[in-house]
Amino acid sequence: MIQSKIWLSSPHMGGNEQKFVKEAFDTNWVAPLGPNVNGFEQDLENFLNDDVHVAALSSGTAAIHLGLILLGVQAGDEVICQSFTFSASANPILYLAATPVFIDSEKETWNLCPIALEKAIVDRIAKGKKPKAIIGVHLYGMPFKIDEVRAVAQQYGIPILEDSAEALGSSYKGKRCGTFGDISVLSFNGNKIITTSGGGALVTHTAKQKDKAVFLSTQARDNAPHYQHSEVGYNYRMSNISAGIGRGQMEVLENHVNLRRKMHDFYQAYFADKNGVTVFSEPNADYYSNHWLTSITINPIITGKSREDLRLFLEEHNIESRPLWKPMHLQPIFAQYPYYGTNVSETLFDEGLCLPSGSNLSDADRLRLEKTLDDFFNNLLTKC
Ligand SMILES: *Cc1c(COP(=O)(O)O)cnc(C)c1O
Repeated sequence: MIQSKIWLSSPHMGGNEQKFVKEAFDTNWVAPLGPNVNGFEQDLENFLNDDVHVAALSSGTAAIHLGLILLGVQAGDEVICQSFTFSASANPILYLAATPVFIDSEKETWNLCPIALEKAIVDRIAKGKKPKAIIGVHLYGMPFKIDEVRAVAQQYGIPILEDSAEALGSSYKGKRCGTFGDISVLSFNGNKIITTSGGGALVTHTAKQKDKAVFLSTQARDNAPHYQHSEVGYNYRMSNISAGIGRGQMEVLENHVNLRRKMHDFYQAYFADKNGVTVFSEPNADYYSNHWLTSITINPIITGKSREDLRLFLEEHNIESRPLWKPMHLQPIFAQYPYYGTNVSETLFDEGLCLPSGSNLSDADRLRLEKTLDDFFNNLLTKC
């Protein structure tokens, strides 16, 4: 008998999403904007709790694009970007005909290495161009080394675009991710910690910046009775229907973070006695990850197995897993751009795997995961 699929991370509705969507239909607020958009933005502002302003947009990628525009990035500029990430962190640099400069990760948070970052900035300045912005990512929900990265950014006067697409509900020293950047970005795509079926948000520290983002996201229409435009506009605003789903999801966000963290606890307990397998975890108590996806690294020398062996084995058992993000500097589309670092992110890509982490996994799913992992690892030496 083929068992049902265990997904890596699938949408998990709370219950009230349909109520907000129905309200939108009942009041005919189906076309763009409307009360759910304002309500969702307010919910996010309350959650982030740091005097921030939120503009709900059509995707996280759109938010990164507008964020770079707000930071003044123009054609020919250089933008520093974490190499170990999803391509959506870096693509908007190319939308603007700017040049990405990729930076390796450090081993503790798997994010921007502050040392490689400073090396890159010094070298780019020596070559005649100071980078316009730094894109840092909280990968899999793990906050990057905020203090260290900020110190470097401040020393050279370069703003940070915080890609918090995977880290809603994470925090660093008690402050929420999504509030640390000069501009920050959230995503509500289908498999993120909460979803609006597709959507994102830009987080700013001033109302003026938010207004500018909303202006640009609604076709940059000047204040006139006819349609007049003095700037290039975009169609990037979130719809009132999507925002309705978002309002329902905000009611269950904390609960979903707790459930994802429970999945991480589950894997940590499972792998505690498995030699050669490491569960990616917070380096110390300053870091609080939403554990959007729990990831492991498999040492092939100790285990005699590769992450691809495990991925294929799980696939045979109808369980979805996924290699870690392939670093941007190894992607054909980005291969021609500068890269600073060693092989930290390359090794993570070779040895790492994301395991099913959804907040909607059941006890039966966990039992099945345990049994399947047992079958795969049965010949592993246990730790002494
Ligand atoms: C999902 C994601 C994005 C893009 O968000 P979308 O809403 O899918 O456009 C950007 N950066 C990272 C790190 C992501 O995981």
